[in-house]
Amino acid sequence: MKKCSKENIYKVFNALSSDYSVYVPVKEENRTFYKKYFDGVVLAENFKTDRSAKDFFFPQSEDLMKFKTQGKSIEIIDEREESEDFIIFGVPACDEASLRILDRVFLAEPVDTYYQNKREHGVIITTACSRPEASCFCSTFDIDMARPQGDIRTYKIGDYFYFEGLTDKGNKVLDKVNALLEDVDQGEVEKEIENIQKVKEKLPLKDLSVKDFGADKTQEFFDRKEWAELSNACLGCGTCTFVCPTCQCYDIKDFNTGKGVQRYRCWDSCMYSDFTKMAHGNSRNSQMERFRQRFMHKLVYFPTNNDGVFSCVGCGRCVSKCPISMNIVKVIKTLSKGGENE
Ligand code: SF4
Ligand code: SF4
Repeated sequence: MKKCSKENIYKVFNALSSDYSVYVPVKEENRTFYKKYFDGVVLAENFKTDRSAKDFFFPQSEDLMKFKTQGKSIEIIDEREESEDFIIFGVPACDEASLRILDRVFLAEPVDTYYQNKREHGVIITTACSRPEASCFCSTFDIDMARPQGDIRTYKIGDYFYFEGLTDKGNKVLDKVNALLEDVDQGEVEKEIENIQKVKEKLPLKDLSVKDFGADKTQEFFDRKEWAELSNACLGCGTCTFVCPTCQCYDIKDFNTGKGVQRYRCWDSCMYSDFTKMAHGNSRNSQMERFRQRFMHKLVYFPTNNDGVFSCVGCGRCVSKCPISMNIVKVIKTLSKGGENE
């Protein structure tokens, strides 16, 4: 493990910028987001971004291919390009865990090569959360905010950043800036981990449990009468799906540019009334059915098809962003059999 002072972190970013595009969390006008680093960019105090690191691998809109027509002939132009090498600094444990959930979707056969390309070129530098928000509940899904995964894990302790390489990709990055790093006393990090555990114990949602949910529970939850009341005020705005680091639904559209056709994909939402609409109509006609789909997918269907893994990482974004204050926490509490979540 190595460390560098908070002043020198900018030298580290500068040094890495010659080989990588480096993205860091910044705060501007009450919005925290990843910005490409250049000299003068200042790190946010709190690294939790409004939108997650998902956007780097599965962007909101992405060109797939072009079609050029001439008379009766059609030329298909493959627009895939090798991604640049890039680094995302300051990713919290929940958002890193969300990428491993997305891997189960996009890297399963048939592999989504657009996503795969970016995953291969991206280096994830995580940061332990010493100041989680009241809406955070990553521990519900056994995610350790004090020991995030990724290619490199970092800790902000006092006036220093501590770095620990976890993969070959991460160690290669650390080797490039070794001259800027100092050796550390491992005890300081252990103390910080203990501090974070204490902070975690004070979180309002620390005891939220999903033990009643999981694989093969469709029969148990599908017809529960509580869905009607839970979904009653849902606006179908899709905000919860768009801020969610694990939501992965998209639509593919063709756009006539006048010179040909541009095919692109863009995020879609199971909360929208025209989601998966087909010639015969829509398979989920009411907002209750659409609402139920979102939460059943996260808490039952996804674990059923993915070794019991839930499709939520407890980032809390849907908790803080839903305009009617409805969210997965309320769904879990309402549908749980009682006991721990009451
Ligand atoms: S649950 Fe909330 S954020 Fe999600 S679609 Fe309904 S109103 Fe919008
Ligand atoms: S469902 Fe809500 S808490 Fe869970 S990962 Fe998505 S946005 Fe975060």
